[in-house]
Formats: sequence, structure tokens, C-alpha cells
Amino acid sequence: MFTCFKCGMYAQGLKHDLSKFSPSEFIPSVKYFQGFRSPISKEKQVKGYSECWLHHKGRNKHHWEYWTDRIDGHLEIVSLEMPVRYMLESVIDRISASKVYKKEMYTENEPLNFFVNSREYKVMNQKTAEQIRYLLQYLADNGEEKALAYYKSLYKKHKYDRTISF
Ligand SMILES: [Zn+2]
Repeated sequence: MFTCFKCGMYAQGLKHDLSKFSPSEFIPSVKYFQGFRSPISKEKQVKGYSECWLHHKGRNKHHWEYWTDRIDGHLEIVSLEMPVRYMLESVIDRISASKVYKKEMYTENEPLNFFVNSREYKVMNQKTAEQIRYLLQYLADNGEEKALAYYKSLYKKHKYDRTISF
């Protein structure tokens, strides 16, 4: 939330992940809490799927999985390009999650490394994946202060845009 604020994203910062406080997400989060990774990963391991995650990704637009659907004419589920404001919120979410899970082992390369080595990098919309990779690379190369200032300028300029080009 505070990192969103630093990027000028006040409304999105306040609304970020609010559904976590709903019973469908709060109860499994407590039940499967581990500290070093998301309770969603644990719930998936135990049950083979996560009701918490299905609830969460259906309500929070900063997750690329929200932007997936069946579209006429396509055989497979389509991953749509994320609107700019939610793509930026996703970048901030990744930085914050890396800090939470890595603790004192966190470095500014961590969000980029985690992302490019993930499977989601390969299965999500490729244009969105490239945008996120580019912005996390910018963090790794320039540090957090400069990166957040850059994200803020992108947000101000493109918050109502569906797409962005670098
Ligand atoms: Zn979320």
C-alpha cells in the first residue's frame, strides 16, 4: 500500500488486495500460513487447488490471471494484455512480496530473478510479461528510489491507457 502511494497510486493502494479480509480468503490464509511463502502455495499442495486463490484472482485486477478468459475462436484460454495501471500495481506487488518472503536476503535483483525463472512468465500474455520484465530490470539496474519515480511517471502518464510501449 505504501509503495503504491509513493508511485501516486492512492486509490489502488487503498484497495489493493482488500478481498483478503473476506472469510473466503482470510480463513484459509490463517489455516495454511507458513511465513516463507504464500498460504496459497501450501493450500494448493495439500488440496491440489486453492479456493482462496480462485476467490482472490477473480476480484483483484493486478493479477494477470484476472485477465484470462475463454474467447470465441480460440481453442485455449486466452491471457489478455493487462491495462497499464494494473500492470504497474503488479510490479509493485512483486517487489513487496519479494521483501516479505526474502526478508534480510532481499536484493533489488530478487523480483526480476523470481519473475523470469517462474512458469507464469512463459504462460501469461507475452506483451505484459515483457513490460513487467522491463520494469523489474529497471529496478535491478537503477535501485528502488529511481525505479519508483519512474513507475510514478508512467502511472501519471498512462493510468487510463489500455496499453503501453517502451
Ligand atoms: Zn493480490
